[in-house]
Amino acid sequence: MDFRFSEEEEAFRQEVRQWLKDEIPQRWIELDPGIWEETEESWALARQFQRRLGQKGWLAPAYPREYGGLELSHMKRLILAEELAYNRAPVSIEVEITVNWVGPSIMLFGTERQKKDYVSGVARGDMIFCLGYSEPDAGSDLASLKTRAVEVGDEYVINGQKTWCSYGHLADYCWLAARTDPDAPRHKGISMFIVDMKTPGISMRPLINVLGRHSFNEVFFDDVRIPRENLVGEKNNGWYQLVIALDYERSSIGYAAANQRVIEELIEYVQQTRRNGAPLANDPLVRNELAQIVVENEVARMMAYRIAWMYTRGLHPSYESSMSMVFVSEVTRRTANAGLRILGHYGELGRDSRWAVMNARIMRMCLSALSIGVGGGSNEIQRNIIAMRGLALPRK
Ligand SMILES: Cc1cc2nc3c(=O)[nH]c(=O)nc-3n(C[C@H](O)[C@H](O)[C@H](O)COP(=O)(O)OP(=O)(O)OC[C@H]3O[C@@H](n4cnc5c(N)ncnc54)[C@H](O)[C@@H]3O)c2cc1C
Repeated sequence: MDFRFSEEEEAFRQEVRQWLKDEIPQRWIELDPGIWEETEESWALARQFQRRLGQKGWLAPAYPREYGGLELSHMKRLILAEELAYNRAPVSIEVEITVNWVGPSIMLFGTERQKKDYVSGVARGDMIFCLGYSEPDAGSDLASLKTRAVEVGDEYVINGQKTWCSYGHLADYCWLAARTDPDAPRHKGISMFIVDMKTPGISMRPLINVLGRHSFNEVFFDDVRIPRENLVGEKNNGWYQLVIALDYERSSIGYAAANQRVIEELIEYVQQTRRNGAPLANDPLVRNELAQIVVENEVARMMAYRIAWMYTRGLHPSYESSMSMVFVSEVTRRTANAGLRILGHYGELGRDSRWAVMNARIMRMCLSALSIGVGGGSNEIQRNIIAMRGLALPRK
């Protein structure tokens, strides 16, 4: 098997690299916000960059041209995602949610008008979606969600509560899962909606994350009236749409490239740092730690490539996405932990300490990596999916 990219793909990678060199704002590099560390300022920079990518056609490069894409191959989409992640471009997690999870779902199930309005808007970089899935009593067991949407004339009236809604306070729209038939079996009475976050009756309470930032929200829907045309796909068939959207979410392309950058920085650090009179890079334990994560991250990268390859073939990754997600989330955590062992106590310091090294990246990574492997379904749930859909093991 030949794992090399074609000459054209390599040239595309160089083009992306050069563009990023020119386009990533200096201020963003100074702020250096990691995942789940956005501030108002970094968010504004990310929104600007989202539009720049949209103008270039690189925000949703694989979308059809009629909806604002360039119809680039999925391999080129992967290359772009890798370069954005490796170069720490100003792309927040919400852009990922909007472009790679919600957009494709609307493209698959939406009406022509929804595609024109929303998919094209997404590709241009004009809008941000948040996800309204989880509820206080519906996380892993999402099918037990209780938020209700009742059809009244030309509208749906929504009542209920969502939680862990990432960046809901900054989003323009919510991709909402709500129950439309309470009497149907649990998986059969759910529908998907697009909800304008400015609609009267929506209120929010911030949830502060482990890095001390406001990234999550509890969202309350109190007699929220939305047009009936904002139903996406078939009424009561939303579970099927949800599962597909979650498969997009778990595809996890880009994480390995982000890890790669950290690993390279760790290698540079051990080459430049002396401990007990010798370069840290000479220590066999350090070398072993690094070799292990380099190999594991390479495996994670290959799993992501498999997903891209499946898209190229018109296949829909299912348990393969879960495999990739479980593996890369665990590699990310192991990379952070290996970094902590290599840096010792220096690795535990925050950016405010003058003794911090690598811009406190390892400590920040240890904290943010907790989220990967929970968001989008915990690794235990992913393993259940692999067992059922991949290995055909019995459900009970
Ligand atoms: C960073 C982050 C961002 C998120 N963003 C969003 C968002 O934008 N929108 C949104 O709707 N939600 C979001 N979530 C919520 C996320 O989808 C849920 O946290 C996740 O599905 C787990 O649900 P829970 O927190 O209710 O945990 P629970 O379901 O209560 O699970 C608790 C523990 O029990 C285990 N468990 C539960 N059931 C089983 C089982 N059947 N077999 C084995 N183990 C099991 C789980 O693995 C977990 O370890 C986010 C979460 C995180 C961490």
